[in-house]
Amino acid sequence: MTTKIFLKPGRDRSALRRHPWIFEGAIQKIEGAKRPGEVVEIIDAKGRWLARGTFSPRSQIAVRLLSWDPSEAIDPAFFRSRVRQAVLGRDLIRPPIGSSARRLIHAEADGLPGTIVDQYGNYLVCQFLTAGAERWQEPLVAELKSQLSPTGIYERSDVTVRQKEGLHPVSGPIEGSEPPGLLEIEEGPCRFAVDVRNGHKTGFYLDQRDNRARVRDYAASADVLDCFSYTGGFAVSALVAGASKVTCVDVSSDALELVKYNAGLNHIAEDRLETIRGDVFNTLRSLRDSGKEFDVVVLDPPKFAETKNQLERAARGYKDINLFAMKNIRTGGVLFTFSCSGAMDPLLFQKVVAGAAQDAGRQVQILGRLNQPADHPVALSFPEGHYLKGLLCRVW
Ligand code: SAH
Repeated sequence: MTTKIFLKPGRDRSALRRHPWIFEGAIQKIEGAKRPGEVVEIIDAKGRWLARGTFSPRSQIAVRLLSWDPSEAIDPAFFRSRVRQAVLGRDLIRPPIGSSARRLIHAEADGLPGTIVDQYGNYLVCQFLTAGAERWQEPLVAELKSQLSPTGIYERSDVTVRQKEGLHPVSGPIEGSEPPGLLEIEEGPCRFAVDVRNGHKTGFYLDQRDNRARVRDYAASADVLDCFSYTGGFAVSALVAGASKVTCVDVSSDALELVKYNAGLNHIAEDRLETIRGDVFNTLRSLRDSGKEFDVVVLDPPKFAETKNQLERAARGYKDINLFAMKNIRTGGVLFTFSCSGAMDPLLFQKVVAGAAQDAGRQVQILGRLNQPADHPVALSFPEGHYLKGLLCRVW
C-alpha cells in the first residue's frame, strides 16, 4: 500500500496551485512506511486526494510533488517521459543556444525536483539532490542515454544541500567513460576548458551564457574588471570581443590558473590579462585608492543569501561591492551586476543597487535587465526557480 500523507486544515493551497513542495509543518499525519524517495499520496484535511510525489523523511521539504493527475503513475516510464520532454524543450529553443554546452534538466522547472543535468559536448554531468531524485535516477539515466548517446555520464552529487536530505556526497562516473580532466566547450566565439570533476556546480556557470554575450557587446577596446571571475567566463568573453585589457579578481588560485589557460585557448596575448588573487571587497578598495578606473565592471558574486533570514546581511554585501564597483567606473562606463541568491527578489536587488549608486554619488541608468537563459527555465508554479538576476547599468 502506498504511503498517505494527510495535510493540516488550510495547508492545501500551495499544492492546489501546483507548487511542488510540501513542508513538514503542513503535515497532520502519515499513514504507511516512511522510506526515502518512495512515492506518497497527498490528501487534504477533508480527505480529498490532491497530488502524488516522493518522500524525503529527513528534510523540512518533506515531499516533492510530481503529479496532480490521479490516473498518472509515478514509475520508471513517468521519469523517462519527463526526461524526453526536458530534452525536447531544449531542442526547441529559438534561437538555438550557440554552444556545445547546455542545461538539459533544470529540476522543478522541468518537473523533476532535485535533478540537474548539464551537457558538455559528448558528456553529461548530473546532480541528484533529493531522496526522490536519488531513488529514481536509474530510469532517468537510461532515458538520457537513449536520447543523447553520450560518451559518458558523470555524477557530481557532492554538494552540501544533500545533507538536508540525509544523503552523503557522491561523485564519479555512472555510465560510459570518465570525462577528461579538462573538457573543452564552445560558446559563441569563445572556447572554454571545464573541469567537470572538480569545478563549481557541474563545472561551469552555464547560467551566465546570455550575459556573457551581452558583455561582448560592450567589450571592444574596453578596460574590463571581472570580479568573482571563477574560470573567466566573462573575462575571456570580453577578451575575445576585443577588450584592450581584462583584470580578474577571485580568491581561488585554481580558478585563476584556469582563466589563464582559457585565455590561451582563445589565443589571447598574455599582456591583455591580469589576475589578482584576493578578496573582491578589499581589492575594489585598493584599486580605487590607486586611482584605477575601468570602462566595464562585472560583479558576479557567489550566493550571499541562502535563505530569507540571511537577506539583510546579504543586502549589505551586495551594496558594498556595488558601491565600490561604481566608484571604479569611468564616466559613461557600464556595470554588469548580478545576484544568484534566490531569496533576493529582483526588486529588492534593484533597491540595493540604487542605494549603492546614491552612496557612491553616481548617476546610474538601467540599460537592461539580465536573467538566466532559456535552458534554465522557470515554472510559473515555482517562481523561486528564477534565481539569477542582474542589471546592466550605465554609470555617469
Ligand atoms: N563569474 C563566474 C562565476 C562566479 S562564481 C563565471 O561566469 O564563470 C563565484 C566566484 O567567486 C568563485 O570563483 C569564488 O572563488 C569567488 N569568490 C567567492 N568569494 C569571493 C571573495 N570574497 N572575493 C573574491 N572571490 C570570491
